[in-house]
Amino acid sequence: MLKIYNTLTRKKEAFKPINAGKVGIYTCGPTVYWYQHIGNLRSYVFSDVLKRVLRYDGYDVKDVINVTDVGHLTSDADTGEDKLEKAAKKEHKKASEIAKFYFDVFAQDLEKLNILKPKVWSWATKHIKEQIELVEKLEKKGYTYKTSDGIYFDTSKFKNYGKLSRKKISGLKAGKRIAMGEKKNKTDFALWKFSSSQEGKRQQEWNSPWGVGFPGWHVECSAMSMKYLGENFDIHTGGEDHIGVHHENEIAQSEAATGKKFVNYWMHGAFLILKGGKMSKSTGKILTISELEEKGFAPLSYRYFNFTAHYRKPLTWSLDGLEKAQDAYKRAKKIIANLKDDGKTNKKYLDEFEKAIDDDLDMPRAISILWKLLRDKNARGKIKTIKKMDSVFGLDLFEKGKKEIIPDDIKKLAEERAKARKGKNWDKADKLRQEIRKRGWQIKDIGAEWVLDKI
Ligand code: AMP
Ligand code: ZN
Repeated sequence: MLKIYNTLTRKKEAFKPINAGKVGIYTCGPTVYWYQHIGNLRSYVFSDVLKRVLRYDGYDVKDVINVTDVGHLTSDADTGEDKLEKAAKKEHKKASEIAKFYFDVFAQDLEKLNILKPKVWSWATKHIKEQIELVEKLEKKGYTYKTSDGIYFDTSKFKNYGKLSRKKISGLKAGKRIAMGEKKNKTDFALWKFSSSQEGKRQQEWNSPWGVGFPGWHVECSAMSMKYLGENFDIHTGGEDHIGVHHENEIAQSEAATGKKFVNYWMHGAFLILKGGKMSKSTGKILTISELEEKGFAPLSYRYFNFTAHYRKPLTWSLDGLEKAQDAYKRAKKIIANLKDDGKTNKKYLDEFEKAIDDDLDMPRAISILWKLLRDKNARGKIKTIKKMDSVFGLDLFEKGKKEIIPDDIKKLAEERAKARKGKNWDKADKLRQEIRKRGWQIKDIGAEWVLDKI
């Protein structure tokens, strides 16, 4: 039985879908004005594992990832420039060209990391009608007010505001540091922003019942998730930075509009952090998958690196850590390449593995079970069992990739040595190891298996 941690209740809960056998998932996607860094990608590795575990458990998964190509401002307080418009100006391109370029790079990165494509990619600019309709609904129900720069959601009218992050509206009102502008409450947020003459002519703007402008950032996720998954759906994911504002606002808009519970399970991925702080676009300290490739790392080594920490725990980034992950990953692949299929499945290990993934996606434990199986001299059914595991790992453990060709004479010596070890003929085994070394190869034992590396 699958258990997942629900941010809403702060508990691990048994997962119960709304419709038997089916799951709807919405994942907050990228704002496509710049490259997604490896921190962003940690969030998508997490939601990919969730999807793979649900599929492993037999669910039919419908997942949606949005693409933010309008409305995300440089400040979370509904001020500042639209990130897409700013990038377009800087690069002298159309906003749509900027969006397409960075989306394509992102989609390639996902592919490199074996992150499965969602059933639906939903672009904010392709759903302006749905967003306007949602704001109209909220207006009719009396949740909105107008200021000189837009239409705002009045958070004091939504009884449960703050239920996800457990913050109190009264406490928030007292804070004086955030510019309030014409907002009634500090937590109020823009649903529709008017195009302003100060900003210069916008490339992306639309007519609306309130005037020419563009949707606020949070509206897109409510409008699009409900369009594709229904007014109440199963799981919503995103990075943990979204808990306090973006997801709180999504809940407020959606539940105020429909009167129904919006999402049953909220799941959040912890950040990839740098020793000196967070990895973010604003601090400029970012790394991309292509940069890792330039440094000689395979993207899937980064995927493996992600499994060294649970998704709810911060993961500290270091090249050294990635190197260790890459070594372990390569070693696992080498051992696997030498296994012979006996047609069996190892139930004991598979059970342990399933317990780990069903326990709130415990990937570090799942990886340690893979290693236990690889090191177990007597275990049978390794190949079939690992194939099943890899449907969740997504590590291509059976792909040969850039495997070194081991010359036949070296292979023969290694096999002789394995026989000598089995017969506890340690002297002979040692001599053979030295002979192999002389010929430029190094042999490493991992349980009953061994791997050969060129020196
Ligand atoms: P953005 O393109 O800024 O909207 O971010 C895309 C996704 O990446 C969001 O779900 C963020 O929560 C997530 N994210 C941003 N920075 C990090 C990080 N350092 N580690 C993990 N996830 C992150
Ligand atoms: Zn979102």
